[in-house]
Amino acid sequence: MNFYKESLRIGGERIESDRIIEVVNPYTGACIGSVPKATVDDVRRAFEFALAYRPRLSRYERHRILLKAADLVVARAEEISDLITAESGLCKKDSRYEAGRVRDVLVFGANAALNDDGQIFSCDITPHGRERRVYTQRDPLLGIISAITPFNHPMNQVAHKIVPAIATNNRMVLKPSEKVPLSALLLTDILYEAGLPPAMLQVVTGDPTEIADELLTNPAVDLVTFTGGVPIGKHIASKVGYRRTVLELGGNDPLIVMDDADLNKAADLAVAGSYKNSGQRCTAVKRILVHSAVADPFVELLVEKSRRWRYGDPANPGLDMGTVIDEAAAMLFESRVTESVAQGARLMLGNERQGALYSPTVLDHVRPEMVVVREETFGPVSPVIRFGSVDEAIAIVNGTAFGLSSGLCTNRLDIITRFVDALHVGSLNVWEVPGYRLELTPFGGIKDSGLGYKEGVLEAMKSFTNLKTYSLPWPQQD
Ligand code: NAD
Repeated sequence: MNFYKESLRIGGERIESDRIIEVVNPYTGACIGSVPKATVDDVRRAFEFALAYRPRLSRYERHRILLKAADLVVARAEEISDLITAESGLCKKDSRYEAGRVRDVLVFGANAALNDDGQIFSCDITPHGRERRVYTQRDPLLGIISAITPFNHPMNQVAHKIVPAIATNNRMVLKPSEKVPLSALLLTDILYEAGLPPAMLQVVTGDPTEIADELLTNPAVDLVTFTGGVPIGKHIASKVGYRRTVLELGGNDPLIVMDDADLNKAADLAVAGSYKNSGQRCTAVKRILVHSAVADPFVELLVEKSRRWRYGDPANPGLDMGTVIDEAAAMLFESRVTESVAQGARLMLGNERQGALYSPTVLDHVRPEMVVVREETFGPVSPVIRFGSVDEAIAIVNGTAFGLSSGLCTNRLDIITRFVDALHVGSLNVWEVPGYRLELTPFGGIKDSGLGYKEGVLEAMKSFTNLKTYSLPWPQQD
């Protein structure tokens, strides 16, 4: 196995340091590499370097860089997958899938860079209209974008920040999660190799308690884009002041199973939604709401399918699930499940832990007020809440602080439209997991899950630009 002694990417150079953060494989416990602990001065230098450069890449040049990077990702997919697996404990199936998603983000960004989404408004459309036309165009930000990413998709979350920034000719300083910094650095190098000017993307790794404030408050920063948990997201919101802020925060997504549902199909969605990526997706299934008329047979199927979900050494390509991010996270799930059982929930399977390895776990008869479903339990836990009516299900879904996504298993159009209108969420997928989306489509939550600003390549490109209008005289021709 390689040892990755990594450096910062500042000012077009690789900067090493004696102050390091070790990167640990969550399954083996081995140190697989290190990254520098950047100082506040390092961060300032990154902003200065970025400010001194004005990107002038044509749409075609941005398109070519992103497409070339996509080709490099495809060519190096196995290396990328190995690195993601080594630093995060995600199994090979998950990390290979993630490499494919990164490729998609790059290709969508490459194509979107070619599109001019400007609008034209003719002004002779009212009684007091004029012979003019108003046009719109999107300009890159005047300042720098600060991006901060979480651990759960080590490369794809980073791609969702960087690619829209490049597609819109912006400059970004990125701080990846200190738990999984290596994948971010690899993607950065791939983009440099594809021709990206280094001032458009610099990477600082380090201890957030030391450098995060500088990333939020440096005068060069025009926009902060953050993906991560609610507590830090709200801290950022209170810190940034008069700056645009995009916050993609936690979720507590339900899969709702109605009494007309094909239970086998619904249980397949429940296990995939609960356990893929070790349950560490903001849109993982974190609560399964099942109509009480079908709850018994559904839970039986859920237990059976969960038992067949093979977990263990993340590097074993035959397995379905690796570890969670670290032992502390696994211990938290264990204690929440144990607490819910003490409060009356029934443990049907799992709650077994070995270091950071935590088994697929099924709970039945969970009540909405239990912490395991009231808070975000960011791991492979399937808690079943039984409900008796659509009204009750809506109240349960809307009864937490979160509002990210949701999944619904029913064929009844009247029920589908009811949920679409009533749920306080950013998205709803009928007969799909809450996490289903294209990298291109609008994505993001409301309430504690986000401020309503969306991600997805196209939406992020909008939030990373200033919309300018200009108008021209347009006299009627004879
Ligand atoms: P986290 O909030 O603990 O950390 C996220 C990032 O914030 C890391 O890079 C961390 O170093 C940084 N950070 C820490 N302290 C900071 C501070 N004081 N100021 C600024 N930044 C600071 O999240 P995590 O545990 O890495 O990721 C899991 C969370 O991310 C879950 O809640 C999950 O739901 C959420 N998430 C949301 C989305 C979404 O799109 N809505 C996507 C993926 C993950």
